[in-house]
Amino acid sequence: MSDNRIEIPATVKLRLDDNALTANWRKLDEMSGSATAGAAIKADAYGLGAVEVLQRLQTAGCKDFYVANWQEARELAPYVDQSSNISVLNGIRAEDMPYAMTGVAKPVLNSMEQVRRWRETGRPCDVMIDSGMNRLGIAAADTKQFDWSGFDIDIVMSHLASADEDTTQNSDQLDQFLSSMPLVPGKRASLSNSAGIALGQAYHFDCTRPGLSLYGGKQRSELANVIQQVVFPQAQILQIRNLRTGDRVGYNAKYTAKRDHPIAILAMGYADGYLRGFSNTGMFVDDDQNELAVLGRVSMDLIAIDITAAPHLKESAWVTAKYDLPIASSQSGLSQYELITGLGNRYARYWV
Ligand SMILES: *Cc1c(COP(=O)(O)O)cnc(C)c1O
Repeated sequence: MSDNRIEIPATVKLRLDDNALTANWRKLDEMSGSATAGAAIKADAYGLGAVEVLQRLQTAGCKDFYVANWQEARELAPYVDQSSNISVLNGIRAEDMPYAMTGVAKPVLNSMEQVRRWRETGRPCDVMIDSGMNRLGIAAADTKQFDWSGFDIDIVMSHLASADEDTTQNSDQLDQFLSSMPLVPGKRASLSNSAGIALGQAYHFDCTRPGLSLYGGKQRSELANVIQQVVFPQAQILQIRNLRTGDRVGYNAKYTAKRDHPIAILAMGYADGYLRGFSNTGMFVDDDQNELAVLGRVSMDLIAIDITAAPHLKESAWVTAKYDLPIASSQSGLSQYELITGLGNRYARYWV
């Protein structure tokens, strides 16, 4: 048997909750009122695995999917239903044109240069209008005199910069979108990401584009009790140690034992996206939900946890990081987006 056919089981896993993902999409679709919810699955569906998320959400009834670039579109192409649409949010560079002509996805045209580039193709596209975020998108002024005849525009969209906050920027952007959107002859209009859906009916238009909340992110109180956790990072125990009072743990000795107690060393570290912000603040649980605090600094590939509450744990047992995104965000100082997109490729991802 050649070496690479001998299985080496992973030492970190991502448990991904199938029912929670589809329930979150259904909830966001329902909260979108008469608009239909799509799904942002860029960046490998925020780290969960874009193919698996696409397949599950298509089964649930989702039809509009958003990726960042054409490499991502190509990866999904074999799995896209006839009735589904893929939009490429980062638009169309000159060097994307050969692949884009295969018709697998539609570009979101983000500048007048991209509009002119796409014109001669006559193929479907979306158009992004800048309503005040100053990231991607066409300025309203540029659309005024433009002759859109010959274009097949599906979604005319814009993107909210601060939908997770109660700020006048939201209504400013809504007003800007309402005045510029009619200048571009699309079939549908779209403004809201996950947090925008919670801003109410005025923000819904024809379709919404949730990403983070599909995967368990809750950036507004309206989402707190309706969105379920989807991602559960798990690590195997490599070693059990028994600390004596005064023993120090990890780099720079950021933990010193004040009593004798057992600890476990986990096969997970900041290279797995469990960043050093969790040092002395993160929490794991065993299968009985006993809480096991992170002790000292998170290393690249290793973490120490206190197992006083679960002294039965042995080498090779598995524990699960507490990873409710708002809580983990405040513990670590990472955004809810960074917490899931950064999880990396050492995990064996499995759906339950
Ligand atoms: C990423 C993205 C979304 C999804 O945003 P969330 O905050 O993750 O819901 C929607 N629209 C655009 C243009 C995006 O870039």
